[in-house]
Amino acid sequence: LGSLAATGEPSAVRVSDRWTVGGGRFTWIAGPCAVESEAQLMSVARDVRDGGAHLLRGGAFKPRTSPYAFQGIGKDGLDLLRDASAATGLGVVTEVVDAAHVEAVAEVAHVLQIGARNAQNFPLLHEVALTGRPVLLKRGFGCTVPEWLHSAEYLLAAGNGDVLLCERGVRTLGNSTRFTLDISAVPLVKGLSHLPVIVDPSHACGRRDLVAPLAAAAAAAGADGVMVDVNQEGHVALCDGEQAITPAEFGALARRTNRMLHSL
Ligand code: PEP
Repeated sequence: LGSLAATGEPSAVRVSDRWTVGGGRFTWIAGPCAVESEAQLMSVARDVRDGGAHLLRGGAFKPRTSPYAFQGIGKDGLDLLRDASAATGLGVVTEVVDAAHVEAVAEVAHVLQIGARNAQNFPLLHEVALTGRPVLLKRGFGCTVPEWLHSAEYLLAAGNGDVLLCERGVRTLGNSTRFTLDISAVPLVKGLSHLPVIVDPSHACGRRDLVAPLAAAAAAAGADGVMVDVNQEGHVALCDGEQAITPAEFGALARRTNRMLHSL
């Protein structure tokens, strides 16, 4: 490893005037998997803010396995994210899937997300690093921990040290969940690197009933934050609806987990 190796203090990443990830504070990132409409995004954004979220997630460009699946609403989604951020004060985390979109995404996003499928797309990592914006780097679901960290090194080598590592599950023999959350990666990576570690239990398990226990496990394992999919109750999501929890469930999860962290 190069400059992300753990040497001194763990680093904190300032993502907006209002929020810094790491530095002993636990970060809640919440919002819909995909931005679908103004009504959907605004309502979820207000509710997750009231429930304790610090940052709003939502994909405008969606990297879907099937070319026939909903691909996101693209630049219109970025406009909606900008409006939701202005209305709620939440910083925006959103994915960039294509180097051609980096500039447009960087105009809106406080944190640019590199998804699991692009975790080793080195030219994209380079372009995203050059924006100077914080980057949330998902672990590729076929990547070992060293491979993931080397992807992060591409960002640091391009001069951008504001990197959040995000564990989101890996492919294993287990097929009861979508992927297998590698909870051991959290303390492992915290020992190897100074970068903050976020966990995405929603994409790891793909099932709403497991999101809360996995989020609590991530917090107990020393993660610096959690990113979860949230949609209104009864909303038929265009993307990954089966893993979304409701705003009420999110609020309860954040309250319970924050209490647990305070008592540790
Ligand atoms: C996402 O967070 O919207 C996403 C697509 O996640 P992943 O890249 O982990 O599958």
